[in-house]
Amino acid sequence: MKSKMEEKKEREMNALDKHIQWIFERGENRKTKTLCPHCKAKKVKYFSVRYTRLGYSGKKSDIGCSLGIPYSACEDCLNKIKGEKTEIFPFKFSVIDGFPTVYDQKKAIELFLWAFNLKRPLKKETIFQFFFEE
Ligand SMILES: [Zn+2]
Repeated sequence: MKSKMEEKKEREMNALDKHIQWIFERGENRKTKTLCPHCKAKKVKYFSVRYTRLGYSGKKSDIGCSLGIPYSACEDCLNKIKGEKTEIFPFKFSVIDGFPTVYDQKKAIELFLWAFNLKRPLKKETIFQFFFEE
């Protein structure tokens, strides 16, 4: 039989799991704030990543990713960021996980901060607002 302490801990863990899940789901449907650098009329929605082979060791670090503000676009300007050896991604937080190296993930995070107009240093209030606004 579980002790009262164990039961309490389990309840707290479930609440925390739910909270984390909520945050992740929330991160998936946040609206971007920055205007598309091509038409300057609609908000950016996608970005393209160009892959370059840097080495042949077979390690993940062999693949370099180029991404950045000029390679971001709204849905109307998508063709401006399409190219050879590129892949288009939406500004959804789950995408960041897919980058091959921490270095590329960091580049992606900077691009996301730009797209969602989150300025460094990030403050608690900014993050709170980001997750809670509709
Ligand atoms: Zn556009």
